[in-house]
Amino acid sequence: MKGAMRTALLIGTIYVVIGGLWIYYSDTALEAMVADLATMRLLQTWKGWAFVLVTGMLVFWMSWWALSRQNALIVRLHRLAYFHPLTGLPSRSATQSRVDQAMEQADGVGLGVAVVQIDLDGFGIINDSFGHELGDELLCKVADELQRCLGEQGWLGHIGADEYIIVFAGVVSRKQLNEGIELVSGALARPFSVGGVSKVHVSASMGVSLYPEDATSASQLLRFSDAALARAKHKGPGTIERFKASMVEQARRRLNVDARLRAALDSDELALHFQPIHKSGDDSRLVGAEALLRWLPPDEPPMSPAEFIPIAEQSGLILDLGAWVIEQACTQIARWKAAGLSPPQVSINLSIRQFMSPGLVEQLTGALDRHGLSSSSLVLEMTESLLMEQGSSGRNILESLRAEGFRIALDDFGTGYSSLAYLRELPIDLIKIDRSFVGSLERSQADRDLVAAMISLSDIFGLRVVAEGVETLAQRRILEQLGCHSFQGFLFSKPMPAKDFWSMLANEASTSPVQAGQH
Ligand code: C2E
Ligand code: MG
Ligand code: MG
Repeated sequence: MKGAMRTALLIGTIYVVIGGLWIYYSDTALEAMVADLATMRLLQTWKGWAFVLVTGMLVFWMSWWALSRQNALIVRLHRLAYFHPLTGLPSRSATQSRVDQAMEQADGVGLGVAVVQIDLDGFGIINDSFGHELGDELLCKVADELQRCLGEQGWLGHIGADEYIIVFAGVVSRKQLNEGIELVSGALARPFSVGGVSKVHVSASMGVSLYPEDATSASQLLRFSDAALARAKHKGPGTIERFKASMVEQARRRLNVDARLRAALDSDELALHFQPIHKSGDDSRLVGAEALLRWLPPDEPPMSPAEFIPIAEQSGLILDLGAWVIEQACTQIARWKAAGLSPPQVSINLSIRQFMSPGLVEQLTGALDRHGLSSSSLVLEMTESLLMEQGSSGRNILESLRAEGFRIALDDFGTGYSSLAYLRELPIDLIKIDRSFVGSLERSQADRDLVAAMISLSDIFGLRVVAEGVETLAQRRILEQLGCHSFQGFLFSKPMPAKDFWSMLANEASTSPVQAGQH
């Protein structure tokens, strides 16, 4: 509105200025040149007409210029509202109209409509590691590939940075829908060449909703495929999830948890608990501790990090939580040291977003410096499966962390899809055997063999091994026979508040001389 007013004011001012100048100078010139009154009148009339003609043309040209600019803007806004600026594919609003139309057509003949929402897994990480230009190129290539494989069978939209949507109209059977989804999965499974050289593998999660089975309106159908997608993302990369009514409630709960967790960061509801890690052998010396985040809402039971960490990971809140954990862990270690105790190395868990965020090294070294600690105070734990997804960029980050003196642990080892051979390639210091293997050691020979293989390979590659979730003496004995270096689990201690860990440290110091050591 302001812009339109300014343009109108400009046109008006130019008109008045030109008009004024014209009247003044032309009248002065006429008076100087013509003495005869009749000729003067005739020339005045011609002058008036000439003025009207010239200024009319000027006003026409300026109005035309202003209006065409405005029209171009409207067309641009329309394009932005209806088409994705990068790929030119229809956007969310256009998709809703398309779904509406497909539903109307389906109503008459009793067919169905399926909406498949697709989200590329770990695209943020691809963007961070390859740069935004190559990220954009990948998004365009994915769009082209989807369009190519779908042909006339489905309608493709691009509704978010790395989110696409497919509308299958006139669906006659589940089989037909499954074939469509397989087509899409197959297209995405092929590597993409980006930047002319690199072969990039993408994986995608999908959420599927159906009309009339799940929803009665286009907006509902889209919301439901979104909820199914959120569920698929939660389950892990590459998951395809069909909408279920219970998901609406789950999505609401996740939003609620995220909002409350955000508030918890500013209040006093978060705490770090510490679980001791003990060396194998008769003295079971304390060689480490894992810092585990706890959320203790005042009027509700505590929620497990296994539940809230993935929610925070998805919303991005994990970066703030992670920063809080780093700061708290350093604060505690410094306090124990100031009290004359010798705390062991403390492990902190890094989420994948934190790991891939550009300022991680500075964040860690900054916190250590503030508390007068060195990098040998911390061990950084990364889960195996998340690390595997990052390829060479993950390896580079690991190398830069190790160059700073941090030790790296591969957490939940054995649960990811990596082969044992990766142990040789990754710049890591220790592995933490997942507690699912430890739990079945007593009954499963196969798991015993697997753990034995993990330990011998780790020995060959010079890695330390910690067994997680050691709950029984029998498990400890088996692990010791297999050559496991250290243990963590309820057999020794549950994770405990910092002040209890303090007492334990003080107790250890008074009963046995403190020895430096690593787990
Ligand atoms: P994790 O890193 O594998 O941590 C070990 C988990 O095993 C902890 O669960 C611990 O309480 C549990 N545990 C230890 N010993 C035993 C045992 O003997 N038996 C059984 N049943 N469980 C045992 P917790 O504290 O619930 O944490 C779950 C997961 O949440 C952690 O698994 C970690 O992946 C994540 N997490 C916790 N704190 C943080 C954090 O500060 N940042 C990030 N990114 N993730 C965190
Ligand atoms: Mg851990
Ligand atoms: Mg673990």
